[in-house]
Amino acid sequence: MTRWDAEQKMQFLFALRSNGVTDQAVLSAMEKIDRAPFVKGLFAERAYEDTPLPIACGQTISQPSVVGLMTQALEISPRDKVLEVGTGSGYQAAILSQLARRVYTTDRHRRLVREAREIFEAMDLANITAITSDGSFGLPDQAPFDRILVTAAAEDPPGPLLEQLKIGGIMVVPVGQSDAVQSLIRVRRLENGFDYDELRPVRFVPLIEGLARDH
Ligand code: SAH
Repeated sequence: MTRWDAEQKMQFLFALRSNGVTDQAVLSAMEKIDRAPFVKGLFAERAYEDTPLPIACGQTISQPSVVGLMTQALEISPRDKVLEVGTGSGYQAAILSQLARRVYTTDRHRRLVREAREIFEAMDLANITAITSDGSFGLPDQAPFDRILVTAAAEDPPGPLLEQLKIGGIMVVPVGQSDAVQSLIRVRRLENGFDYDELRPVRFVPLIEGLARDH
Protein backbone atom coordinates (compact mmCIF):
# COMPACT_ATOMS: atom_id res chain seq x y z
CA MET A 1 0.00 0.00 0.00
CA THR A 2 3.04 2.26 0.20
CA ARG A 3 3.96 2.09 -3.49
CA TRP A 4 1.39 4.60 -4.67
CA ASP A 5 3.74 7.55 -4.99
CA ALA A 6 3.35 10.87 -6.84
CA GLU A 7 5.08 9.66 -9.99
CA GLN A 8 2.89 6.56 -10.27
CA LYS A 9 -0.24 8.59 -9.65
CA MET A 10 0.70 11.02 -12.39
CA GLN A 11 1.22 8.24 -14.94
CA PHE A 12 -1.94 6.46 -13.86
CA LEU A 13 -4.02 9.65 -14.24
CA PHE A 14 -2.36 10.43 -17.55
CA ALA A 15 -3.40 7.03 -18.94
CA LEU A 16 -6.96 7.59 -17.72
CA ARG A 17 -7.19 11.01 -19.38
CA SER A 18 -5.66 9.76 -22.64
CA ASN A 19 -8.30 7.06 -22.75
CA GLY A 20 -11.21 9.45 -22.38
CA VAL A 21 -11.77 9.74 -18.63
CA THR A 22 -12.39 13.48 -18.34
CA ASP A 23 -14.84 13.86 -15.45
CA GLN A 24 -12.93 15.65 -12.69
CA ALA A 25 -14.88 14.02 -9.84
CA VAL A 26 -14.15 10.57 -11.27
CA LEU A 27 -10.47 11.39 -11.74
CA SER A 28 -10.14 12.57 -8.15
CA ALA A 29 -11.93 9.47 -6.86
CA MET A 30 -9.46 7.36 -8.81
CA GLU A 31 -6.58 9.39 -7.48
CA LYS A 32 -7.70 8.73 -3.91
CA ILE A 33 -8.13 4.95 -4.15
CA ASP A 34 -4.91 2.96 -4.50
CA ARG A 35 -5.50 0.01 -6.88
CA ALA A 36 -2.65 -2.12 -5.49
CA PRO A 37 -4.48 -3.58 -2.46
CA PHE A 38 -7.14 -4.94 -4.84
CA VAL A 39 -4.58 -6.81 -6.95
CA LYS A 40 -2.99 -9.62 -4.99
CA GLY A 41 0.03 -11.86 -5.49
CA LEU A 42 2.08 -11.98 -8.66
CA PHE A 43 0.25 -9.23 -10.46
CA ALA A 44 0.36 -6.64 -7.67
CA GLU A 45 3.36 -4.91 -9.16
CA ARG A 46 1.36 -4.18 -12.32
CA ALA A 47 -1.48 -2.54 -10.40
CA TYR A 48 -0.86 0.91 -11.90
CA GLU A 49 -0.84 -0.21 -15.51
CA ASP A 50 -3.95 0.56 -17.52
CA THR A 51 -4.73 -3.11 -18.01
CA PRO A 52 -7.13 -5.72 -16.65
CA LEU A 53 -5.44 -8.28 -14.36
CA PRO A 54 -6.37 -11.74 -13.02
CA ILE A 55 -7.81 -11.99 -9.49
CA ALA A 56 -8.99 -14.98 -7.44
CA CYS A 57 -11.75 -17.35 -8.60
CA GLY A 58 -10.74 -17.03 -12.27
CA GLN A 59 -12.10 -13.47 -12.47
CA THR A 60 -10.51 -10.17 -13.50
CA ILE A 61 -10.13 -6.68 -12.11
CA SER A 62 -11.20 -4.35 -14.92
CA GLN A 63 -8.90 -2.02 -16.81
CA PRO A 64 -8.70 1.30 -14.91
CA SER A 65 -9.74 3.42 -17.90
CA VAL A 66 -12.80 1.20 -18.39
CA VAL A 67 -13.64 1.65 -14.68
CA GLY A 68 -13.32 5.41 -15.23
CA LEU A 69 -15.46 5.44 -18.38
CA MET A 70 -18.21 3.34 -16.81
CA THR A 71 -18.19 5.47 -13.69
CA GLN A 72 -18.45 8.70 -15.64
CA ALA A 73 -21.25 7.26 -17.80
CA LEU A 74 -23.27 6.74 -14.60
CA GLU A 75 -23.36 10.52 -13.86
CA ILE A 76 -23.45 9.85 -10.11
CA SER A 77 -24.66 12.53 -7.68
CA PRO A 78 -23.52 12.61 -4.06
CA ARG A 79 -26.98 11.59 -2.77
CA ASP A 80 -27.24 8.50 -4.98
CA LYS A 81 -27.72 4.92 -3.86
CA VAL A 82 -25.81 2.69 -6.26
CA LEU A 83 -25.87 -1.05 -6.93
CA GLU A 84 -22.89 -2.77 -8.48
CA VAL A 85 -23.28 -6.33 -9.78
CA GLY A 86 -19.90 -8.10 -9.87
CA THR A 87 -17.79 -7.05 -6.86
CA GLY A 88 -14.71 -8.93 -8.10
CA SER A 89 -11.73 -7.31 -6.40
CA GLY A 90 -13.86 -4.49 -4.94
CA TYR A 91 -11.93 -1.78 -6.80
CA GLN A 92 -14.88 -0.46 -8.81
CA ALA A 93 -17.06 -0.36 -5.67
CA ALA A 94 -14.35 1.61 -3.87
CA ILE A 95 -14.35 4.20 -6.67
CA LEU A 96 -18.16 4.41 -6.56
CA SER A 97 -18.03 4.90 -2.78
CA GLN A 98 -16.19 8.21 -3.29
CA LEU A 99 -18.99 9.61 -5.46
CA ALA A 100 -22.22 8.18 -4.06
CA ARG A 101 -23.98 8.20 -0.70
CA ARG A 102 -24.31 4.44 -0.48
CA VAL A 103 -22.95 1.52 -2.51
CA TYR A 104 -24.28 -2.04 -2.52
CA THR A 105 -22.13 -4.54 -4.33
CA THR A 106 -22.82 -8.21 -4.96
CA ASP A 107 -20.83 -11.16 -6.24
CA ARG A 108 -21.64 -14.87 -6.68
CA HIS A 109 -18.23 -15.80 -5.21
CA ARG A 110 -18.28 -15.69 -1.42
CA ARG A 111 -14.49 -15.52 -1.28
CA LEU A 112 -14.31 -12.39 -3.44
CA VAL A 113 -16.94 -10.69 -1.28
CA ARG A 114 -15.07 -11.59 1.89
CA GLU A 115 -11.74 -10.33 0.59
CA ALA A 116 -13.27 -7.13 -0.77
CA ARG A 117 -14.92 -6.44 2.60
CA GLU A 118 -11.55 -6.73 4.33
CA ILE A 119 -10.07 -4.11 2.01
CA PHE A 120 -13.07 -1.77 2.46
CA GLU A 121 -12.59 -2.01 6.21
CA ALA A 122 -8.86 -1.40 6.04
CA MET A 123 -9.49 1.66 3.83
CA ASP A 124 -12.34 2.92 6.04
CA LEU A 125 -14.86 2.83 3.20
CA ALA A 126 -17.87 2.65 5.49
CA ASN A 127 -20.59 3.36 2.90
CA ILE A 128 -20.16 0.06 0.99
CA THR A 129 -22.16 -3.07 1.74
CA ALA A 130 -20.87 -6.21 0.01
CA ILE A 131 -23.22 -9.17 -0.32
CA THR A 132 -22.87 -12.69 -1.73
CA SER A 133 -25.79 -13.27 -4.07
CA ASP A 134 -26.80 -13.79 -7.67
CA GLY A 135 -26.77 -10.15 -8.67
CA SER A 136 -28.86 -10.68 -11.78
CA PHE A 137 -31.84 -10.57 -9.41
CA GLY A 138 -30.64 -7.27 -7.96
CA LEU A 139 -31.23 -6.59 -4.29
CA PRO A 140 -35.01 -6.31 -3.86
CA ASP A 141 -34.68 -5.34 -0.18
CA GLN A 142 -32.59 -2.28 -1.00
CA ALA A 143 -34.33 -1.28 -4.25
CA PRO A 144 -34.96 1.04 -5.95
CA PHE A 145 -31.53 2.35 -6.97
CA ASP A 146 -30.52 5.67 -8.52
CA ARG A 147 -27.72 4.00 -10.44
CA ILE A 148 -26.87 0.39 -11.33
CA LEU A 149 -23.55 -0.80 -12.73
CA VAL A 150 -23.11 -4.34 -14.03
CA THR A 151 -19.46 -5.38 -14.42
CA ALA A 152 -20.08 -8.77 -16.05
CA ALA A 153 -21.54 -9.26 -19.53
CA ALA A 154 -25.21 -10.19 -19.89
CA GLU A 155 -26.97 -11.26 -23.08
CA ASP A 156 -29.62 -8.66 -22.26
CA PRO A 157 -29.97 -6.19 -19.39
CA PRO A 158 -31.49 -8.40 -16.65
CA GLY A 159 -35.21 -7.69 -16.09
CA PRO A 160 -35.03 -7.48 -12.28
CA LEU A 161 -32.31 -4.82 -12.56
CA LEU A 162 -34.41 -2.73 -14.95
CA GLU A 163 -37.28 -3.01 -12.45
CA GLN A 164 -35.07 -1.91 -9.56
CA LEU A 165 -33.92 1.24 -11.32
CA LYS A 166 -35.62 4.49 -10.21
CA ILE A 167 -37.38 6.65 -12.76
CA GLY A 168 -34.68 9.04 -13.95
CA GLY A 169 -32.10 6.42 -12.96
CA ILE A 170 -29.20 5.17 -15.07
CA MET A 171 -27.84 1.66 -15.55
CA VAL A 172 -24.58 0.85 -17.32
CA VAL A 173 -24.17 -2.76 -18.49
CA PRO A 174 -21.97 -4.66 -20.96
CA VAL A 175 -24.25 -6.59 -23.29
CA GLY A 176 -23.38 -9.43 -25.65
CA GLN A 177 -22.06 -12.99 -25.87
CA SER A 178 -19.26 -13.63 -23.41
CA ASP A 179 -16.73 -14.86 -25.96
CA ALA A 180 -17.32 -12.05 -28.43
CA VAL A 181 -16.92 -8.31 -28.28
CA GLN A 182 -19.65 -6.81 -26.19
CA SER A 183 -21.16 -3.35 -26.16
CA LEU A 184 -21.31 -1.12 -23.15
CA ILE A 185 -24.91 0.07 -22.96
CA ARG A 186 -26.35 2.95 -20.95
CA VAL A 187 -30.00 2.60 -20.01
CA ARG A 188 -32.03 5.52 -18.68
CA ARG A 189 -35.36 4.84 -17.04
CA LEU A 190 -37.99 7.31 -18.22
CA GLU A 191 -41.53 7.87 -16.88
CA ASN A 192 -42.78 5.28 -19.34
CA GLY A 193 -40.07 3.06 -20.71
CA PHE A 194 -36.33 2.96 -21.18
CA ASP A 195 -33.91 4.82 -23.37
CA TYR A 196 -30.81 2.92 -24.54
CA ASP A 197 -27.54 4.20 -25.90
CA GLU A 198 -24.47 2.30 -26.96
CA LEU A 199 -21.22 3.66 -25.54
CA ARG A 200 -18.32 1.53 -26.79
CA PRO A 201 -17.08 -2.02 -27.36
CA VAL A 202 -15.83 -3.77 -24.20
CA ARG A 203 -14.85 -7.23 -23.03
CA PHE A 204 -16.05 -8.60 -19.69
CA VAL A 205 -16.35 -11.99 -18.04
CA PRO A 206 -19.89 -13.37 -18.30
CA LEU A 207 -22.72 -12.84 -15.86
CA ILE A 208 -23.42 -16.36 -14.60
CA GLU A 209 -26.57 -17.62 -12.91
CA GLY A 210 -26.57 -18.82 -9.32
CA LEU A 211 -24.00 -18.77 -6.52
CA ALA A 212 -20.53 -20.17 -7.26
CA ARG A 213 -19.74 -23.54 -5.69
CA ASP A 214 -16.02 -23.03 -5.27
CA HIS A 215 -16.14 -20.77 -2.24
N1 SAH B 1 -16.00 -4.89 -10.71
C1 SAH B 1 -14.91 -5.82 -10.47
C2 SAH B 1 -14.59 -6.70 -11.65
C3 SAH B 1 -15.69 -7.60 -11.96
S1 SAH B 1 -15.30 -9.13 -12.76
C4 SAH B 1 -13.68 -5.12 -9.97
O1 SAH B 1 -13.69 -3.90 -9.80
O2 SAH B 1 -12.69 -5.82 -9.69
C5 SAH B 1 -16.95 -9.73 -12.83
C6 SAH B 1 -17.47 -10.28 -11.55
O3 SAH B 1 -18.84 -10.57 -11.75
C7 SAH B 1 -16.80 -11.57 -11.12
O4 SAH B 1 -16.23 -11.42 -9.85
C8 SAH B 1 -17.94 -12.59 -11.11
O5 SAH B 1 -17.86 -13.52 -10.04
C9 SAH B 1 -19.15 -11.68 -10.95
N2 SAH B 1 -20.43 -12.27 -11.39
C10 SAH B 1 -20.70 -13.00 -12.50
N3 SAH B 1 -21.99 -13.35 -12.52
C11 SAH B 1 -22.56 -12.83 -11.39
C12 SAH B 1 -23.88 -12.85 -10.85
N4 SAH B 1 -24.91 -13.48 -11.45
N5 SAH B 1 -24.10 -12.20 -9.69
C13 SAH B 1 -23.09 -11.58 -9.04
N6 SAH B 1 -21.83 -11.52 -9.51
C14 SAH B 1 -21.56 -12.13 -10.67
